[in-house]
Amino acid sequence: MLAGRRRNMSDTSSKELLRRLSEAPGPPGAEDAVRRIVVEQLRDVGSIRHDRLGSVICEVAGPTDGPRVVLDSHLDEVGFMVQSISGEGRLAFVPLGGWWGHVLLGQRVNVLTEAGSVPGVIGCTPPHFLGPDQKSKVLELEQMYIDLGASTADEIAALGIRVGDPIVPCSEFREMPIEGVFSGKALDNRLGVALMCEVLAELKRGEQPNTVIGVGAVQEEVGVRGAATACEISRPDVAVVLECTPADDLPGQTPRQGVLGGGPQIRIFDPTAISNRRLVRLAQETAEEAGVAVQLAVRRGGGTDAKAIHGWGRGVPTVVLGVPARYIHSHVGLMQFRDYVATRKLVLALVRRLDASAVEGLTRFDESAG
Ligand SMILES: [Zn+2]
Repeated sequence: MLAGRRRNMSDTSSKELLRRLSEAPGPPGAEDAVRRIVVEQLRDVGSIRHDRLGSVICEVAGPTDGPRVVLDSHLDEVGFMVQSISGEGRLAFVPLGGWWGHVLLGQRVNVLTEAGSVPGVIGCTPPHFLGPDQKSKVLELEQMYIDLGASTADEIAALGIRVGDPIVPCSEFREMPIEGVFSGKALDNRLGVALMCEVLAELKRGEQPNTVIGVGAVQEEVGVRGAATACEISRPDVAVVLECTPADDLPGQTPRQGVLGGGPQIRIFDPTAISNRRLVRLAQETAEEAGVAVQLAVRRGGGTDAKAIHGWGRGVPTVVLGVPARYIHSHVGLMQFRDYVATRKLVLALVRRLDASAVEGLTRFDESAG
């Protein structure tokens, strides 16, 4: 369907958008920098509104009788918050989202104060001071601290740091030695955010048989909060949740449902949502027609914005499409750019197929329904 179209997305501009989004700080409740990039990308694409938690909603109008198709992506990334400041100038912190202690010690972070970003490191005890029993244990986050090089609480106050300030991982977006592989923080879910922005920009000319509403939802990582409030504005008839899903091509993991380079993942199930079966089928058919290889996922753990969206109002047929990335919820995820491009192609083709009759068919539950 894309053949012969003028593409307004070059690989270079897509990679630059991914870099900017990945490096932007956006822990739950403090997504401002990410929201700013999204608004800048979509300002001339559709009409922009916000819910009262800070989610951004961009509507690209289509035919008046067309269904409302939501492309959801969450803006936030896993981060932390200053819990208290010790007399010796160390910051205790709480996690915002799911972290594992193994990936934290010795890492760089930025504390987001009202006056700006202040760098720190998560302190770790050198092996010289650890007994054998301590070496074999994972440290609890409550026992960790952030060190800014200070020795007193006054020095911390002078830096403008206060209890409640958000904290984000500090990590550069970089190309790896294998072509097309990039590493960086917050790939979950800036890949989804970039997809949402680029698909909306491509649909701007409005020949799609529906109204497309791009959503940048806040606070997913702390319990899928913005996706729920954004629905009051987006009022979806059908929803596609754009995510960065955990790749499982790791030592000892079988079966594999999310391999780097294997293409977009269609998530059929996780404990928070079951994708609409007909919408899953439509996504598979669309992928086949578009020549996009997909990976099917039935997940024992995890969750996405689909949790809130599919349960909104009288129910919303929803499917989750994910770009797989290794090592998410750490400072350095790895993604393959061609998976991103393939997912974008699939989302565009799927949106173009979601006309009134296709969407109505997703929720026809009378006896005569096929
Ligand atoms: Zn996510």
